[in-house]
Amino acid sequence: MAELERTEWYDLARTTSWTPKYVKEEEFFPPEMSDPYGMPQEVWDTYDEPYKTTYRDYVRVQRDKDIGVYSVRAALGRSHFVEKAPRGWLSILKSHYGIIASVEFTAAIYNCRNARFGRAGGMRNTGTFGILDEIRHGQLEFIFPHEYLKNDRQWDWAVKTYHTDNWTAIAGRHFIEDVMVTRDAVSSTLMNGFCLETGYTNVQFISMAADAAKMGDYTFSNVVTSIQTDEARHAQIGAPNVRFLVETGHKDEAQYVLDNAFWRSWKLFLTLTGPAIDYFTPLEKREKSFKEFMEEWIIAQYRRQIDDMGIDEPWYWDIFLDELNYAHHGLHMGLWRYRPTLFWDPKAGVTPPEREWLEEKYPGWNDTFGKSWDVVIENLKNGEVEKTLPLTLPMLCNICQLPFVAPPNRKTKDFKLHDHTLEHNGRLYHFCSKPCKWIFETETDRYQEHKTLIDRFLAGEIQPMTIPGVLAYMGVAPGEMGDDADKYTWVDAYRDVKAAQ
Ligand code: MN
Ligand code: MN
Repeated sequence: MAELERTEWYDLARTTSWTPKYVKEEEFFPPEMSDPYGMPQEVWDTYDEPYKTTYRDYVRVQRDKDIGVYSVRAALGRSHFVEKAPRGWLSILKSHYGIIASVEFTAAIYNCRNARFGRAGGMRNTGTFGILDEIRHGQLEFIFPHEYLKNDRQWDWAVKTYHTDNWTAIAGRHFIEDVMVTRDAVSSTLMNGFCLETGYTNVQFISMAADAAKMGDYTFSNVVTSIQTDEARHAQIGAPNVRFLVETGHKDEAQYVLDNAFWRSWKLFLTLTGPAIDYFTPLEKREKSFKEFMEEWIIAQYRRQIDDMGIDEPWYWDIFLDELNYAHHGLHMGLWRYRPTLFWDPKAGVTPPEREWLEEKYPGWNDTFGKSWDVVIENLKNGEVEKTLPLTLPMLCNICQLPFVAPPNRKTKDFKLHDHTLEHNGRLYHFCSKPCKWIFETETDRYQEHKTLIDRFLAGEIQPMTIPGVLAYMGVAPGEMGDDADKYTWVDAYRDVKAAQ
C-alpha cells in the first residue's frame, strides 16, 4: 500500500478541530483554563510549532532513547560508580533527583492542560507528546535513585520530597505549581515552556551532563541528556504564543508573566545548580563556573529570543546581573550551615585550591564569602562543630521562600542585605529582593494566603518550637539528615598550613 509522505498529511491531520454542538464555545474552552486573553480563532489557526512530529515517529525516536538510557544502566549497573563516587558528586545526584523527579510528573499535568485546552491543533499536539515526555522523565528519575536505595536512605527523597513540608519542598511547590499548573494554558506555556523549559532547564541539564561526563558518571550524563532532548522539543509550545500575545496587543501581559517566571526560575536554579557547579563538583572536573553557564545559556540566549519576539528585557535586569555574582554563594553557605535540614550532604568546597578557583571566577570572593568561611574553618579546627550548626531559623522571602542573602563582610554603602517589607491586610510580608516584592504586589490575591516555613513557625503550627521540632516538621528522618559531605576531613588542609608555619 502506498504511503503518503508525512508533509502531505501532517498539517491537515494535526489541525483537526471540533465544532461543539451541545455546549457553547466558552464552555468547551473556558477562558480561565484556555485563553483568557481572548485571541481570535483566526490567530490560533496560524499556530505553527517549530518542532513537528507524528505519533509514529515520536514512538520510534523515544523507544530508541529509552533503549539508550536503559542499556547504559544495564551495562554500568555492576560498575558500582555510586559506591565509589566522591561524596560531593552524590550530593549533586541526590539534590537533583529529590528536587526534580516529582516535578517531571507535575510537568505532565501542565502538558495535559495544553493538550486539552490549547486553542490550536499544533498546541494540543505538542502538549500530547509533552505528557508522554514528562511521564518518561519521571520514570527515569525515579528508577535510577531507587536502585541506590540499598546504599542509603537519602535516595528515598527522589520520591519523598514533595510529600513533605521540608523547606525545599515548600519553595519548590510554591514556584512549580505557580508556573505549571495553576494558570491558563497560554500563560503557563510562556512561563514554563518558553522561560523555564527553554532557558533554565539547559543550565541544570546541559551543565550537569557536561560535568557528569567528565566525572565518568555516564549513567547520569545519559539520563539528563535523554531528558533534555525532549525538553528542547516540547518547550517550543510557548514561542508561537509569545508572538500571538505581542501581535494582538497583549505585550504587557506577556512581559509580566515572562518577567515573573524568569525571576522565579533564577531563584530555583541558583539554589540547585549554583552550589552543584561551583562547590560540589570536584575541582578538576569542572567544565565552567555557574556564572559562565548562565552567561552562555541564559543571558545570551534568552535576550536574543525575547528581542526577536518584541519583548523587552526584564526591568530588574541589573539586579539579576548583580545577584549572579553572589546569590548562589550565599545560598550555598546557607545550605551547608543548615545541613541537618537537607536530604543530601552538602560539600563545603572551600579548600585552598578551591578558593583560588572561586577567586578567579568571582573576583572578591575571598574578601567577602571567604572571610565568613574563615570563621567556620576556625571553629572546625577548634573542634567546635556545634558553632557551625543552626541555632535559629533564617529570614525567608514570601515569594521565593528562600533565605535572604548578600555578600558578607562588606558593610559599606553597597551592602545589599535588605528586608523589603509590605503591610497588607494587617499582615507584614518580607521579600528578599525588589523583584520578589514586585511579583507579590502585582498578583497579591494569588500569593497572599501562603505561609513560609517561618510564618508557620511563628504561628505555632510547628511544635515543639525548637530546632528538633522544625526538623521533625520537615520530615527528615534519622539516617537521612544531611551532614558535611567529606565528614570535615577537608579542614585538615588548614591544619597543615598552620603546622607548617
Ligand atoms: Mn521534563
Ligand atoms: Mn518539560
